[in-house]
Amino acid sequence: AFRALRIDKTDDGQTISTVDFPESDLMEGDVVVRVSHSTVNYKDGLAVTGKSPVVRRFPMIPGIDFAGKVTASENPEFKVGDEVVLNGWGLGETHLGGYAEVARVKADWLVPLPQGLSAADAMAVGTAGYTAMLCIMALERHGVTPARGPVLVTGAAGGVGSIAVALLGKLGYEVVASTGRPEEGGWLKELGASEIMNREELASPGKPLQKERFGGVVDSVGSVPLANAIAQTKSGGAVAACGLAAGMDLPTSVAPFILRGVSLLGINSVTVPKPIRVEAWSRIARDLDREKLAAITRTIGFDEIVPTAKAILEGKIRGRVVVEI
Ligand code: NAP
Repeated sequence: AFRALRIDKTDDGQTISTVDFPESDLMEGDVVVRVSHSTVNYKDGLAVTGKSPVVRRFPMIPGIDFAGKVTASENPEFKVGDEVVLNGWGLGETHLGGYAEVARVKADWLVPLPQGLSAADAMAVGTAGYTAMLCIMALERHGVTPARGPVLVTGAAGGVGSIAVALLGKLGYEVVASTGRPEEGGWLKELGASEIMNREELASPGKPLQKERFGGVVDSVGSVPLANAIAQTKSGGAVAACGLAAGMDLPTSVAPFILRGVSLLGINSVTVPKPIRVEAWSRIARDLDREKLAAITRTIGFDEIVPTAKAILEGKIRGRVVVEI
């Protein structure tokens, strides 16, 4: 047996506890990993608290990411001792997840730990940072270059947002960081932002076409702020939408799309095909400044997962959290 966090379903909702989990109860998979690190993303917050129905199998070990070393493999792609990373694929939702000392998963879901990143670095990036990279790659594919104008990042002090700011800054973009925590302005400027925008500026419903300002947008909040971000995107620009921290709705009209040719690019990190997954991780290893990554990361122990998961839903976590398993 190994130590794990386990969610059980009861008549009154769900309970969570630290347990000794029998290895024989692990789900199917061809690779066994000794997990060394995990992280706490917004989705982990939803799963651990039960605030949204993220968990779709009980009992569940939450944790949508892990990094660790292979201890057994029936797949020729991986051998004992290989360092690996996993994001998504239903981990912590439908498949037993990363808040455990041991995981058994499908080889297809694993990515080799990219050269130049430690397991702890990879979890400092985690699904949040990986998604930030996917957003930037989508903007690039759309032709959003630094010459097209400033890029807006919403939820900038959060996980996706702070890594997006660091990556975009390094890639030469002028970054406008929107945050509800203007006291983090200095920190965001050190990370790579040129300008800080108070979240309030995007918080009230506005017209679908506003003054054209941004060549591109990385949005992790959705709802009214996303509608306003679309309304302020320049003709031919693009908005990568990956989150819902402000809400699931999107109160806009087709005007920005049909009158300005603005594109809305949807980002789902859970089921990205392997070549793109590997490319995103190698781009992270290349384009993410390690000192900046360290500056946005806090490390916690296993016992702090549950309180941290609650805090992330309250918008109280700055940057990223690594869990030492
Ligand atoms: P996080 O660290 O909690 O960041 C979210 C940030 O959003 C907060 O730090 C806050 O930034 C801002 N925010 C929170 N509540 C808000 C509100 N009511 N109005 C406006 N802004 C608000 O979470 P995360 O892990 O980075 O994830 C961010 C979002 O992306 C989540 O919705 C998550 O589910 C989503 N996500 C989606 C995918 C995907 O595959 N599509 C992958 C990863 C994450 P400030 O304090 O700076 O204002």
